[in-house]
Amino acid sequence: MTPFGYTCVMGAFIDTSGQLLNDRSETLALTCPHCQVLAHITPIAVPGFNELNTHRPKAVGVVYRCDACFAAIFLRFPVKIYGPQRIELGAQIQEVERLEERFSYSHLPDDVALLFREALACFAHNQFNAFASMCQRTMQAAYARMSEANRLWVQDQLAEARKLADIDDTTFNDVKRVINGTDLPTIDQTVAGALIEIMKDLLYQVYVRRGRLQQAMSVRRFFSEESLRGLRVSGSS
Ligand SMILES: [Zn+2]
Repeated sequence: MTPFGYTCVMGAFIDTSGQLLNDRSETLALTCPHCQVLAHITPIAVPGFNELNTHRPKAVGVVYRCDACFAAIFLRFPVKIYGPQRIELGAQIQEVERLEERFSYSHLPDDVALLFREALACFAHNQFNAFASMCQRTMQAAYARMSEANRLWVQDQLAEARKLADIDDTTFNDVKRVINGTDLPTIDQTVAGALIEIMKDLLYQVYVRRGRLQQAMSVRRFFSEESLRGLRVSGSS
């Protein structure tokens, strides 16, 4: 599966009997949004040939069954050609339900976590501009808790993420406008894809990394103090 919920299948078509056939049907697999297993999928509901030929929509929706958990999976195929014997489908298939992005919220302040959870829900439903708005609100909540020095540090992290991920100028500018709240550009899937990765990285750096380190250090301090106390007790006896 390629990023952003698209998957590729070569040479798929619907024949006059309404069967969906493709050269890779034996190996057609994707990560199921329900059980999260990379599973083989089987078409169980395909629109009829005549029905499609009458209205000629630009895309066709097909229901598949996940062969691991048997849940329904909805895929949308672009139509390439309406032929007399077969309807040829394009290779870029869109998964209508996307796997929810995973993120560890445990060290995030409640308001930041709540807003970012909603941001990721928008992304999972392909609502990229709603996603951008929620990212901006997430960052507003995060900035409100930060010192001026930390806000400047975030700018350094942004610049570093851009360099590491080799993001082009236009995309990065839009991402930065969303994150810094200077304004709210209308974004597309490409910018949303960069924005989600940078947001996750940023929130990880600001909260999760620090939280995990502090937690680990306090556990180590506890055990070293305990062992010192033990030494003192055994020394005094
Ligand atoms: Zn499944």
